[in-house]
Amino acid sequence: MGTIKSVFATNVFNDSVMKERLPKETYKQLQRTIKEGRHLDNAVANVVANAMKDWAIEKGATHFTHWFQPMTGVTAEKHDSFITPTDDGRVILEFSGKELIQGEPDASSFPSGGLRATFEARGYTAWDATSYAFIKEKTLCIPTAFCSYGGEALDKKTPLLRSMEAINRQTLRVLRLFGDTEVTSVKTTVGPEQEYFLVEKEMFDRRPDLIYTGRTLFGAKSPKGQELDDHYFGTIKTRVAAFMEDLDEELWKLGVLAKTEHNEVAPAQHELAPVFTTTNIATDHNQLTMELMQRIAKKHGLVCLLHEKPFAGVNGSGKHNNWSISTNTGKNLLDPGDTPHENAQFLLFLCAVLKAVDDYQDLLRISVASAGNDHRLGANEAPPAIVSVFLGTELTEILKAIEKDEQYGSREKELWKVGVHTLPRFPKDATDRNRTSPFAFTGNKFEFRMLGSSDSISGANIVLNTAVAESLSQFADALEQSADFNGTLHELIRSTIREHRRIIFNGNGYDEQWIAEAEKRGLLNLRTTPDCLPYFIKEKNIDLFTRHKVFSETEIRARYEILLENYSKLLNIEAVTMLDMANKDLLPAYSAYAQKLSDTLNAKKAAAPDADCTFETERLKQISALTGDMYRKTQALEGTLLDLVQKDFDELGRAQYYQRTVFQAMTQLRIVADELESITDRSFYPYPNYGDLLFGVR
Ligand code: ADP
Ligand code: MG
Repeated sequence: MGTIKSVFATNVFNDSVMKERLPKETYKQLQRTIKEGRHLDNAVANVVANAMKDWAIEKGATHFTHWFQPMTGVTAEKHDSFITPTDDGRVILEFSGKELIQGEPDASSFPSGGLRATFEARGYTAWDATSYAFIKEKTLCIPTAFCSYGGEALDKKTPLLRSMEAINRQTLRVLRLFGDTEVTSVKTTVGPEQEYFLVEKEMFDRRPDLIYTGRTLFGAKSPKGQELDDHYFGTIKTRVAAFMEDLDEELWKLGVLAKTEHNEVAPAQHELAPVFTTTNIATDHNQLTMELMQRIAKKHGLVCLLHEKPFAGVNGSGKHNNWSISTNTGKNLLDPGDTPHENAQFLLFLCAVLKAVDDYQDLLRISVASAGNDHRLGANEAPPAIVSVFLGTELTEILKAIEKDEQYGSREKELWKVGVHTLPRFPKDATDRNRTSPFAFTGNKFEFRMLGSSDSISGANIVLNTAVAESLSQFADALEQSADFNGTLHELIRSTIREHRRIIFNGNGYDEQWIAEAEKRGLLNLRTTPDCLPYFIKEKNIDLFTRHKVFSETEIRARYEILLENYSKLLNIEAVTMLDMANKDLLPAYSAYAQKLSDTLNAKKAAAPDADCTFETERLKQISALTGDMYRKTQALEGTLLDLVQKDFDELGRAQYYQRTVFQAMTQLRIVADELESITDRSFYPYPNYGDLLFGVR
């Protein structure tokens, strides 16, 4: 394998490549477009496109594609070759500025929540010049946004870029008030830690549930699970190490700074963390990481499972979204700093985040809502479905002192004054970490830990950026109108702490008592996707997004429909897959085992009338009773689906029905089936079992 230096970003058309390959004037104009969001004119686009094409062809590319992130969980691409036929029967390789800037994928089958039906039949893709083009599988990929002709966003990138613009605007207002004249742009930064499972491909291929739904719908616990914690940070198996090495190298080529790879808590579970970068690039990179994990695993005879809960009874997979705000002068605005002035500014940004998380708990919960993630949140392994903020004891004590105008620490009789005193240093190391908190301050950034492993990180960051932009805009309003900056600042910080301290929780998030306590505090506990989605279209949330021009009301309503519809579709696929497995594989297998027991019983009796047939007799009774029960549960599940046909639900009603009725029937069926598995002759079980799957990779 090449060294990181020799391979890093070799497949990326990045700044240094542009500088080298573009005429000076073109390069400058492109930079202006990137930095100031100006329109790129055709002549410039043609020059850039041509340079990009030559570079890509030298690297072995034959095709190009507009790479985009539609409302489905994956990325989409439609490959076109560079080839253009000439009149004399030859071909030339071409790529025009127009093809670079705009594309028209046949988008009719991407989810639009009715947007395209109402407006235009087709959508178009537009180059996001702030994210570099790259080569993947001999294809030049151009990161693009995907919109309808009416301008409505049909993807996950467009609103993310808009939310970054919103927080940029409001942060600059606040920085100016603190006397900063240097900073000209502010971006949020993200480092997403990604969890995943690896299983043998040969075993995966024999499980219809994994193939169709990404998770096991049946499966009794293996004798050993994760109880010994011996997998966490344990030695990485040779095959897994080879996969990781390969993955790192491929990611580096694409400029993704994959940094740490290690084992996670559950057997067969692993994690990858990259070095953080600007949010929209981090989002593109995380999509690429997930895609490459799946592709490279196959090369190693493995399958990478990105589902949030592939196995019952062992930890599922999530994603930690480390988030901060950074200036173009290189300053991290969530770093407390050393001087009273820096500390005061830090406290205001900290308060902006506290207020944002409290005011928009519902939106943060929605940003991580999916059928898969419902298995984790609130199930004692991931942060609960309740959103709260961990600050650590010291910072919390300081906030308390500010709020109450009390002395802090050893300062005798002296009150802690914003802008006058200096904060103590907060530990940045892992020792003070509370792993059960959904949203934790970790010294100079926040870590949002509720994301599911297969989520695009765009949703969470759209909400974070926009909600914090809203807090900052309110703060800026108050400070701009004040004649006494320091006094107003102090009061603003005090009142924000007073109004939003309920969101601070430093205790154990997995504790039952927290649920009761959170309820007392008036915090939301939205357990499932159908529980939280209706909050998306609440007036205060529509106001937030429209005020900051992140979503129009039409776009919000469309997204709401899409999310509900996705949820129902997913549950339907799961239910149908369960029926298929129960009817065609499992019930016949248990019945065959009963037959074997009965044959043995008869044979024994024929050989010796007084033979001890306790096992055969008892087991046969047990298997008969349980298979009968399993058959009835299968029928019941089927019944819930048949009933649905007669119901006249809207999208929300349907999603609720799937959650309350269909999912319950699935759970009931699984319980009996798993019990049967645990008392059935191994050789009759038609699939690789939990032990095979979890401990199969050697
Ligand atoms: P861990 O959580 O494993 O202890 P770190 O706290 O060092 O490790 O980092 C976790 C992730 O947070 C990494 O992806 C890192 O790049 C990212 N990170 C660090 N600083 C920032 C920042 N200012 N903004 C966004 N992400 C950051
Ligand atoms: Mg972490």
